[in-house]
Amino acid sequence: MRSALFYLAFLALGVAGTLFMARLGGAVEIRVGELEIAVPFALALLLLAFGFLAVHLLLRGIAAIRDWPARHRARRDAKRRIDGDAAVTRALVALAAGTPDLARLEVRRAREKLGDTPQTLILTAEAERLAGREEAASEAFQALASRPDSRFLGLRGLLRQAIQREDWPTAQRLAREAEATQPGAAWLRQERETLALRTRDWREALALAAPGTAQAPLALAAAAQEPEAARAADLERQAFQTDPGFAPAALAHARRLREAGSPRRARQVLEDGWKARPHPDLAEACVGAETDPLQRVKAAEHLVESNPKHPESHLLVGRLAVEAGLTGRARQELEALINSGLADRRAFLALSDLEEAEGGDTPATRAAQARWLRLAATAAPEPRWRCSACGTDQAVWSPVCPQCQSVGTIGWTTPQQLALSGE
Ligand SMILES: [Zn+2]
Repeated sequence: MRSALFYLAFLALGVAGTLFMARLGGAVEIRVGELEIAVPFALALLLLAFGFLAVHLLLRGIAAIRDWPARHRARRDAKRRIDGDAAVTRALVALAAGTPDLARLEVRRAREKLGDTPQTLILTAEAERLAGREEAASEAFQALASRPDSRFLGLRGLLRQAIQREDWPTAQRLAREAEATQPGAAWLRQERETLALRTRDWREALALAAPGTAQAPLALAAAAQEPEAARAADLERQAFQTDPGFAPAALAHARRLREAGSPRRARQVLEDGWKARPHPDLAEACVGAETDPLQRVKAAEHLVESNPKHPESHLLVGRLAVEAGLTGRARQELEALINSGLADRRAFLALSDLEEAEGGDTPATRAAQARWLRLAATAAPEPRWRCSACGTDQAVWSPVCPQCQSVGTIGWTTPQQLALSGE
């Protein structure tokens, strides 16, 4: 509107100017040799204006013809981009729908239109993987990895492939390269942890594991791998401090302290372990060195002091009291255990022993023993180390199940857990 008004005013001015010039009169003379042309001034002005206009239009026309190829290219590129983007979308839909042939077709179209961009390359790789063509996917990932802007994407894909074909050395090398490209990526951390567990690199697994009690078995496993005694001792202490209830760690830490000449601190570690989660091995480490039956009872009483109501505490003191001939004390502990409803086979066997210690070899004793033995046969089994993956029992804890090679599956299983699992 504004420019229309402007043109109108400009036109009015022009017409007024021309009329003014026409009334004013005057002429423009052009003389060439003998030839002489006289043009009225107003007409000369008009011709001049038309001349300018003609030259302007001519130049515009030439510029338009000169720029035509570039404009044509731009239009063609824009169309290719639109077609390429549409093919990318269709390829994504095909990938999501799990139709590899269609995905590969659309990806090929997208690549024709858009060329080898990170987007088309990753789509190529995914489509090839979906079609089960790992070699072709690998090529696409290699191409991605060779570009600085998509290096991490390429390495990520190659790493996933290496893990899938269980090529651990390659996987570890790729993980290191990816870490250098994108330090601290959360996904990579997870993958490196998995790799460390697979390759039994416990120290690396420990460094990558989330803080918590899950670190204790890793630290203990790393200690067993550590050739240097001081560092192994550090790792054992770390394992114990992370989870005092993890008996193998408490035992290893206590053993190391005893060897270093600190029996009092070793005993404290065993007591702390018992307080957190009683375990028969802790009792063995604590009273095993004592040979005098009464001293053994005393050592056990000291060990269970902070956790006296636990079934393992009752059982330990009860059994040792039987051995020491302290039958009253033994009966008190073992009956408390039976009454708690948490007794397992070992408690009934100990009561059978107690009958013999109390009454000697008499028919009444034998009858009482037979009763306890019958109960023992139907009682819950004693706790044990068991692999949760293959269900086999293990004599000792170990980070890898020797039966099924699963990592971190061996745990201490109590009678209650065994009852739940149907034994
Ligand atoms: Zn197993």
